[in-house]
Amino acid sequence: MIARLSLLPLFLSCACAQAPSSSQAVPTLSGDRAMEYVRHQVSFGPRPPGSPALQKCREWILQELKAFGYAVEDDAFDAVTPYGTIRMHNLIARTGPGDKGVAVMASHYDTKLMEGKNFVGANDGGSSTGLLLELARVLAGRDDGLDYWLVFLDGEEAFIEWSTFDSTYGSRHLARRWKEDGTAGKVRALLLLDMVGDRSLGLLKDRNSTPWLMDLVWNTAAEAGFQAILSSTETHMEDDHIPFIDAGIPSVDIIDMDYPPWHTAQDTLDKISAGSLEKVGNLVLAVLPRLERRLAGK
Ligand SMILES: [Zn+2]
Repeated sequence: MIARLSLLPLFLSCACAQAPSSSQAVPTLSGDRAMEYVRHQVSFGPRPPGSPALQKCREWILQELKAFGYAVEDDAFDAVTPYGTIRMHNLIARTGPGDKGVAVMASHYDTKLMEGKNFVGANDGGSSTGLLLELARVLAGRDDGLDYWLVFLDGEEAFIEWSTFDSTYGSRHLARRWKEDGTAGKVRALLLLDMVGDRSLGLLKDRNSTPWLMDLVWNTAAEAGFQAILSSTETHMEDDHIPFIDAGIPSVDIIDMDYPPWHTAQDTLDKISAGSLEKVGNLVLAVLPRLERRLAGK
């Protein structure tokens, strides 16, 4: 079931990327396709916030999401950074308006500014964004008990040194906005993907994540046969999930930080695999119905 689609040739904007009608088969998540999305991002080169490369990358993400049938919100804002004010853009694709409750899946799509280095962020920025696009393709047109919002966050990386003020620009902006306008009340859970492509994947148990949601993901992994991608290491992650937790949204960080090429020019495509992307993608897809049942009290 998993391998069959991945043997097909990949055409990023082929007709099969359209939202399915209810009479059509549910599309299968493909790690190879997610990998192609990562490859495409890497082809733009380093993609720090405000750069022409990130703008090109964003335009491509937007075009793919529209091809899947989504109307996409460009959540643009001015971020005050150590390099001055920079225009940033979160992209939000929705399967529905959220009145029945929302499960958000999110990834940052910027790469860390590393002057003088060709840092292309195949895993850090690229892998989770490629997988989020593939999840968007698979979930397009779904009418489940929850609406799904796919959120591509700008400005996760620190420009100089990670701090409360120099990091997570996109998530801090969006979480604040959603809290102020009441949207946060609709969002029942947020699954953050970050660095999910490592060939030897080991997802960390993040103690900053919302405990019941963390347990739901971990229990799902055990039930669905994905124990091999779980690490026994516990950690406290500072990442894009924290501003949403602060806004009252249950959130979990699905991340593998045990990655030697992290924040080096060696974070390249050869360090990540379609197999890892496919496992994490299928884990997320297995979590969604369990999340819906739990929220419904079943
Ligand atoms: Zn990073």
